[in-house]
Amino acid sequence: MHELPPSADIAIIGAGVVGLAVAYRLSSLGKSIVVVDKEMGPGKGVTAGQANVIHVIQLPFGSLKSRLARRGNLMYDDLCKELGVRLSRMPAILVVRRWLTTPALLATYAYLKMGLGKDFRVRMMRGSRLREIEPLLAKGVIGGLVVDGYGTVDVRALVSRLADASAARGVEFVFGCRVTGAESNDEVTTLKTSCGELKASLVINAAGLYSGEVAAVLGSDHGELKPGLGVMAVYSGLPIHCIVAPLPLAVRSRTKGGALIPATDGTTIAGPTLRATGSKDDGSYVEDDLSRLEAKFHPLLAAEGKLVRVYTGIRPLSPTKDFIIELDRHRRVVNLVGIESPGLTAAPAIAEMVEHMTEETNR
Ligand SMILES: Cc1cc2nc3c(=O)[nH]c(=O)nc-3n(C[C@H](O)[C@H](O)[C@H](O)COP(=O)(O)OP(=O)(O)OC[C@H]3O[C@@H](n4cnc5c(N)ncnc54)[C@H](O)[C@@H]3O)c2cc1C
Repeated sequence: MHELPPSADIAIIGAGVVGLAVAYRLSSLGKSIVVVDKEMGPGKGVTAGQANVIHVIQLPFGSLKSRLARRGNLMYDDLCKELGVRLSRMPAILVVRRWLTTPALLATYAYLKMGLGKDFRVRMMRGSRLREIEPLLAKGVIGGLVVDGYGTVDVRALVSRLADASAARGVEFVFGCRVTGAESNDEVTTLKTSCGELKASLVINAAGLYSGEVAAVLGSDHGELKPGLGVMAVYSGLPIHCIVAPLPLAVRSRTKGGALIPATDGTTIAGPTLRATGSKDDGSYVEDDLSRLEAKFHPLLAAEGKLVRVYTGIRPLSPTKDFIIELDRHRRVVNLVGIESPGLTAAPAIAEMVEHMTEETNR
């Protein structure tokens, strides 16, 4: 941890997985980079309360978050290899339990085949065949889709290795430092922070849940982002090898609907849920959240496992229902606003996009 230097080529606000992926990517450009975060270490914001999934399906397919998630997914193997982070690849099985839902199964199969193209294989199978792939699936599962290319990643390791590898390439991290204001002219932005002033030629706003407020400070109005609470229940004794979720897909919903997720530590996560919460600091859950998870996911498996822990996370709900990634050329600011799910999956691709924007500011 460093004291805030007076100036840098690039200032990144936020050391969540997105700010860290950006710092790591830009650290090879030979520029001085400072990352500031109001918390006392990396990955303590939205990134601390996610479900570890490297996603494939994000609807609608044409959205920026969907495109960046597919691109990010394809970048994860190399990134994790480079950093020595555990990434487990597995398919997702989307199941149906009632014959009534088989027309939806056929329609979803065609829709996914078209939307995912060649990069991610989709297969339709009967229940008996699905149980050969995932023996713990409940007998009541009559059929479903197998979507290749999903994964789960050790996010704690990812966060600390991204920070360490960036620092090793000269990126400075200043923790416990909150950005409160900014002034810019054509050349430079002066960030006002709780630990002094920092002048930067380019500022990247990766402030997660607070990216709307930080964008306002930097001169762009996207409104304040609404917080959406997600609850996740963690089980032992549910040794599944695939991500399992019920069909139909929640096409118009703000959430993908959650899943049963085999985490890299051997536990299985059920969730997340999504509901409005009054405060960005209120991560408390109620019994009803757990009952919903049980009702949705227990019927999918032939075992119940043992509940070992419950945790929550708060998403920044984007006002456009999509990531807002924009370069303000005039002020030389890149805003990454409303990076809701699947921001973990998309992080390497967001970093790639930010690098292209950085090149544009140099022209
Ligand atoms: C319940 C839940 C489950 C999820 N599951 C998945 C999943 O399985 N797969 C997936 O791909 N995505 C998932 N996501 C989404 C993913 O977690 C987020 O998109 C991602 O973590 C966002 O990272 P970030 O770096 O943008 O934000 P953050 O992690 O919040 O980082 C922003 C940082 O900015 C700092 N900051 C804010 N304001 C200031 C300021 N004024 N000054 C200085 N610092 C500031 C904060 O302290 C914070 O550390 C999930 C999200 C939730 C909530």
